Amino acid sequence: MDDNNTYDALVIGSGMTGGWAAKEFTENGYRTLVIERGRDVKHKEDYPNAFKAPWDYKYRGYDTRKIKEEYSIQHLKYNFDASSMDFFASDKDHPIETPIDKPARWFRGYQTGGRSLIWGRGAYRMSDLEFGANQKDGNGTDWPIRYKDIAPWYDYVETFIGVCGTKENIDHYPDGKFLPAFEMNTAEKVIKDRIENHYENRKLIPNRFAHLTKIKPGQFKGRSECQSRDMCHAGCPYGAYFSSNSSTLPAAYETGKLTLKSNVIVESIIYDDEKGRAAGVRTINSITKERSVYYARVIFLCASTLASTSILMQSRTSRFPNGLSNSSGTLGRYLMDHHKNVGGSGILKGYKDSYYRGFRPGSLVIPNFRNVHRQEMDFLRGYGIYGGASRAGIDPNQIGIGKEFKEKLSKPGPWKMSLYAYGECLPYYANKVELHPEKKDQWGLPILNISAEFKENEMKMRKDMKEQITAILKVAGLSDINVSEGSHIMGDSTHFMGTARMGLDPQTSVLNQYNQSHEIPNLFVTDGSCMPSASYMSPSLTFMALTARACDYAVKAMKSGTL
Ligand SMILES: Cc1cc2nc3c(=O)[nH]c(=O)nc-3n(C[C@H](O)[C@H](O)[C@H](O)COP(=O)(O)OP(=O)(O)OC[C@H]3O[C@@H](n4cnc5c(N)ncnc54)[C@H](O)[C@@H]3O)c2cc1C
Ligand code: SF4
Repeated sequence: MDDNNTYDALVIGSGMTGGWAAKEFTENGYRTLVIERGRDVKHKEDYPNAFKAPWDYKYRGYDTRKIKEEYSIQHLKYNFDASSMDFFASDKDHPIETPIDKPARWFRGYQTGGRSLIWGRGAYRMSDLEFGANQKDGNGTDWPIRYKDIAPWYDYVETFIGVCGTKENIDHYPDGKFLPAFEMNTAEKVIKDRIENHYENRKLIPNRFAHLTKIKPGQFKGRSECQSRDMCHAGCPYGAYFSSNSSTLPAAYETGKLTLKSNVIVESIIYDDEKGRAAGVRTINSITKERSVYYARVIFLCASTLASTSILMQSRTSRFPNGLSNSSGTLGRYLMDHHKNVGGSGILKGYKDSYYRGFRPGSLVIPNFRNVHRQEMDFLRGYGIYGGASRAGIDPNQIGIGKEFKEKLSKPGPWKMSLYAYGECLPYYANKVELHPEKKDQWGLPILNISAEFKENEMKMRKDMKEQITAILKVAGLSDINVSEGSHIMGDSTHFMGTARMGLDPQTSVLNQYNQSHEIPNLFVTDGSCMPSASYMSPSLTFMALTARACDYAVKAMKSGTL
């Protein structure tokens, strides 16, 4: 082995989970190499659009036909525009294949920090309702952990990243270590009262976000409070929302133990047949195409669900002919995402003397109220409803003339409340990702074939989502109610999960309760691929907590000499 290429810990990917692994290993004194396929993005200095206004862009920030072609999938994301485009990976350079009748979308960010730069910052704790769901209804494999196992790690991660929210004492929606929530506006408070007075089991509460709303001096090193500018996807120079770039990676650098190599693609993991361990990784420089190898005592795979799965599949050996650590045959199976695009809105009459300050980068949530205490619906699992109220835009279609007309034109419209749902998808064996048998990318690596769809359970849930959103908008006393259902495409929610799942049984899962490969003790996978079920909540807080927990386990094993 070459000493210059040898580290204590090797982390693949510098995004949300890789940042955590880097922080934990370096803070425990281990020389750590992070390998990142994308370009380097430095906190603050590489956010060139953070202070630009729409008129600073050639087409006011709108996507041109050329951009839509190059970013054929990415441009469909709500926060893709000229200010954020460089934080999304080009679909032209990174193609995927899907069957015509099962479209899928893979939203990606290839750079330091991965998608932590462009995420929506919603940060939620799963509860035992979700950790116990597979066991209860027999879909998927049982989670090898319960809430009590991960609760201290949710605490640990929240305390470091900063999550705002309110304590609500809802058993199946656990409270966390919260900073103060963003304030609800007048219409939202009125609507909250109406909903909560009507329903016994539904609460409209501030959504939980990884934003620094109110902090003490020095509390979050190098980061400051949110200015409510809602320009987060251009990168936040205040470090007011959590990203690896603003938070975990600086902490790792501060130890002097971190080496981060950008523009380096991990092709595969080197397996040492004699020792039964992962020895290192084979890489390709994304610009020069030069090949290298790096070695380490422990390897953390944090490249995001589909990318980590493809690296394992590309690491076939005679011992593992179907992909590394895949004797169970479950690698690439049980692909999940949340289903969405059911929503509605209505107008709240009155309260026109009330307004708000700034552009709150947040929303509200009605936590799941279905199948909580018993199986009551004709579908399994549940969903959450998100949304918020704001004053509608200034109405340009008014008739008038002179001073009075000008004044009328400067007045915002009525209060408009919008609601939309995110639902759980069951883990189905048939939903899968595979390496394409023939097609390769420009680095000679197989592209991915994604074949997955939402099924009957999700369709029944969507029907209920639509009915309940309509009912809630009516209970809230709104007029002009408009509820609709859009497409349900896998990947649209940006939460791919499940393709290298944790489990108690090595015959039916890839990873154990510490995200450690059942078959290769020094290999850990801590991104979304480890999830045995999806819950209905955005999952990144859980990914981070599982990563920190797995690092703690690995560090203890390294210190005791068992790893
Ligand atoms: C617009 C948007 C909104 C979102 N909103 C939310 C939200 O509100 N709440 C929530 O919980 N989640 C949200 N997400 C999802 C969230 O961003 C992801 O769950 C999270 O980033 C996953 O972390 P990760 O470390 O697995 O992957 P990433 O953060 O994507 O990082 C993976 C890293 O690995 C690198 N990599 C990939 N392949 C290789 C390779 N072969 N070699 C070397 N490096 C490699 C990538 O370049 C990347 O930097 C959102 C995502 C998007 C895009
Ligand atoms: S809204 Fe807050 S977190 Fe977002 S860019 Fe502005 S200051 Fe940063």
